[in-house]
Amino acid sequence: MKRVLKWVGIALLVVILGLVGVVLAAFHGLSPIQDGQRLDGVQTVKDGIVSCFLVDLGEREVALVDACNDKSAKAVLAALAKRGLGAEAVKAIFLTHGDADHLWGALAFPKAQVLVLAADVALAEGREIRLLPWLLSPKDTGVRVARALTDGEVVELSGVAFRVFAVPGHTKGSAAFLARGVLFMGDSAESTTEGALAPAKRLTTSDPELNRASLAKLAERLAPSAADVKSIAPAHSGVLTKGLAPLADLARAR
Ligand SMILES: [Zn+2]
Repeated sequence: MKRVLKWVGIALLVVILGLVGVVLAAFHGLSPIQDGQRLDGVQTVKDGIVSCFLVDLGEREVALVDACNDKSAKAVLAALAKRGLGAEAVKAIFLTHGDADHLWGALAFPKAQVLVLAADVALAEGREIRLLPWLLSPKDTGVRVARALTDGEVVELSGVAFRVFAVPGHTKGSAAFLARGVLFMGDSAESTTEGALAPAKRLTTSDPELNRASLAKLAERLAPSAADVKSIAPAHSGVLTKGLAPLADLARAR
């Protein structure tokens, strides 16, 4: 019996070390998120291993791109408080996709309308499960989507345009948004310590090949208005400030 327990213990340890290794490997080589980084009308908020963004809508109002991971949205509220703003300043939350680590913070902004591509509405609301469906069952996130977005549309809020691009792959309803010169990528791409753009992490991505194809298509669609893209902002790694070039390079490398 003791022997069996010992082997069970060793097996458990191997599994745990393996999981830790997988997580470390997933974030190895990524450029770090810079909390508080200010671009032109856009501010990075870091919440552990994930970031979300304040997009200025005039002086006293903002939209969020993603809502970060913390249900009480401490980091987002602290960033707002520094500007003398409260939760009510958040008018809208654009979700790059429906994974929980990007949306829990929305619960702290019940007055903000939540927008996500139609294909990820069920995932965002917790009526669908994407990873390990044989092990886990869907659970209501409490987040309610006010408006399902469609590919190619432009949402205008207080004169600020948010261009919506479907980039399916990481999830089936993953989106990139272009607003105020920043191309928000969610988990569809990552920035590396070398200043390049890499495709979505395979391990957590529903369809890595489709993700690559979507990134190539996005580069193609943005090429005519390349000058509008000043920066590229992934959710789990730092912002690249070299225009559209890193995405164009990634598309060429296929
Ligand atoms: Zn994520």
